Amino acid sequence: MADIPMPLPGFTAWPSFPFEGDFKIKHLDPPVETEPARKGEDSADCTACTAPDDAYIWVNERWRVRTMDRPTGLPMVLMLEPRSHLDLGDLPNLLAAELGVMTVRLERAIRSLDNVARVHVYRWGDGAAHLHVWFMARPVGQLQLRGTFLPLWDDILPPIPEDQWRESLAHVAAWLAEFGGTPLAQPPRIDWQAPAKLTDS
Ligand SMILES: [Zn+2]
Repeated sequence: MADIPMPLPGFTAWPSFPFEGDFKIKHLDPPVETEPARKGEDSADCTACTAPDDAYIWVNERWRVRTMDRPTGLPMVLMLEPRSHLDLGDLPNLLAAELGVMTVRLERAIRSLDNVARVHVYRWGDGAAHLHVWFMARPVGQLQLRGTFLPLWDDILPPIPEDQWRESLAHVAAWLAEFGGTPLAQPPRIDWQAPAKLTDS
């Protein structure tokens, strides 16, 4: 029996949809009997639990904020993690309340960057077990990046300049540190070059 292609959903025609051309919808695998373990389900091999503070841009006693190891396409991509090996639904009331405060604080810090119009906040939780809430900044004026596909555009757009990235990280870390904790992101060093005459002689 020939497969009848499923109709494409309306979002493929949205201006924000990052692709064009001919598409067809993938076959969906049958559901598995047992869900596989996520990465770092056990705290002993959890990368968040074993990462040192200097892998983060800001830390305090209960929370840490990190980014990717290099710039990506969006002006800012950050992750907020509790120090404790917990997922969202496991947070005790103190951490649950602080998650709200930290989320608002980070949103403001990132939105205060010159080139940021909006900050998206995501928690998927399908990959790594240790709670990590994503903050992704939409560049100002880039209306096509509004909505659902922003995380895809982060991979599609060319990486932002490293200096701009480091400066923004230092800005956000300093903003958070206004309320406590330790900022660990440093602004880029000034690209100082010795005058050619000195090096020639
Ligand atoms: Zn962990």
